[in-house]
Amino acid sequence: MSIHWDVIIVGAGPAGSTLGRALSERGLRVLILDKEIFPRYKACGGGLNVRAANMLDVDLSSVVEDTIYSARIAFRMGNPSTNWSDRPLTYMVSRESFDHLLLQHAIASGCAVREGEKVRGVRVRESDVAVRSDGGTYFGKVVVGADGAHGVVASSVGLMEDAFVAIAIESEIEVSASDLEDWRNVVLLDLGSIRGGLRLGFPQGTSPLHWGGRPVDAGERTEGLLPSVHRRMAVGYEAVPRPQETGASASRPEEGRRHSAPSGPAGGGRCRAGRPV
Ligand SMILES: Cc1cc2nc3c(=O)[nH]c(=O)nc-3n(C[C@H](O)[C@H](O)[C@H](O)COP(=O)(O)OP(=O)(O)OC[C@H]3O[C@@H](n4cnc5c(N)ncnc54)[C@H](O)[C@@H]3O)c2cc1C
Repeated sequence: MSIHWDVIIVGAGPAGSTLGRALSERGLRVLILDKEIFPRYKACGGGLNVRAANMLDVDLSSVVEDTIYSARIAFRMGNPSTNWSDRPLTYMVSRESFDHLLLQHAIASGCAVREGEKVRGVRVRESDVAVRSDGGTYFGKVVVGADGAHGVVASSVGLMEDAFVAIAIESEIEVSASDLEDWRNVVLLDLGSIRGGLRLGFPQGTSPLHWGGRPVDAGERTEGLLPSVHRRMAVGYEAVPRPQETGASASRPEEGRRHSAPSGPAGGGRCRAGRPV
């Protein structure tokens, strides 16, 4: 007879791991499923808000690569204004190591974790939920969709159908050592360089990582955006756009990575048929 879990969480990103740990510490039987094997790549600037970091109650010293004390705010990179804070604003992490650390804490708290198991569908029934993955079918009282943008949990239960889509493009810009030094502890917020969107720049280990995003019009094709947005990401530096090899979801990986992010309608999350899913 299969185990009947109290909670089945789909997705072992920060949301899934943190919730799993919290529930497990309260004595619930929690199963976390993720299609990837950790540590895994996740498209992200890696800016971890200090308030969020403090809520985690985890020692992050092994994964924090930089600390942001300043925001450089610009319009089309012209006349940027730089403001400094005497307190940390944001920590810079790589999502590979940050997410892996949180998952290890979830496991230590007692969560069962199945990595490399893609969830294919979720059925919400009268008395329980059935979660079907590549590894089998699991039954629980509650399923949590922590499977990120385009999650199978939301689509299985009819949520987010009327979401609009925003496009995010991530690009790594190689700069000189002195430029990089100038970027230490600073985050860039640039408006106007990307039509209808914004550009963010974060210092990373060896180069600032940038990502820009904007909403996409219905039916708009976005594949062709990558080269031009990538060029605009590099404006304002003595920068050489550096080829990027990784990122399975990128349409032109050599020029950055493209991601579409469904955004919910105003009003936030919903329950279906009065049952939390
Ligand atoms: C380009 C870009 C830059 C960003 N920069 C920042 C930033 O600097 N700071 C910030 O705070 N936020 C940033 N974000 C947003 C941030 O990445 C997300 O808010 C965050 O990752 C959400 O965490 P999560 O745990 O909900 O989901 P995710 O981190 O997306 O994790 C979801 C997990 O679910 C798994 N999964 C998905 N489908 C399935 C399936 N069918 N079966 C099993 N497992 C599945 C995935 O493998 C993944 O591990 C950025 C986003 C993008 C796209």
